[in-house]
Amino acid sequence: MIKQVLKQVFKKPFTNKFPVKYAPKNVSALLQKVERGEAQINPPVPIPDQFRGRIVYEEEKCIGCKMCIKVCPAKVIEFREEEKKIRMYVARCIFCSQCVDVCPVNCLHISDTYLLAHTDRLDPETLIVE
Ligand code: SF4
Ligand code: SF4
Repeated sequence: MIKQVLKQVFKKPFTNKFPVKYAPKNVSALLQKVERGEAQINPPVPIPDQFRGRIVYEEEKCIGCKMCIKVCPAKVIEFREEEKKIRMYVARCIFCSQCVDVCPVNCLHISDTYLLAHTDRLDPETLIVE
């Protein structure tokens, strides 16, 4: 047991400090600096294989079958009747990938995009309406 504890104490962590190596006084101010190119984000650890990030929707391939709506457990997807296409509310997604698996024409994909935090869940950036 003591051997295991000592091993853990000296082991390198699997995670890294994010978004920066130090604790910023004001995270919002820091992120604004990053946007202006005055500060840099500490690169995260490499994204593992099979990581499930933001869903990508290829609208032109979609045939409007609604299968994805039926299987989605988090009510992320709604149907746009006029266009016979879908709209996705990313903030609700639990990244289960069931919509991707069920889509008969492969127009839904899992990406490795993980920076999805936003202050407005209805902002166009948090919707997928291609
Ligand atoms: S990944 Fe899961 S929760 Fe997200 S939209 Fe697809 S079915 Fe819904
Ligand atoms: S399952 Fe695929 S083709 Fe069917 S509505 Fe959803 S995205 Fe479109």
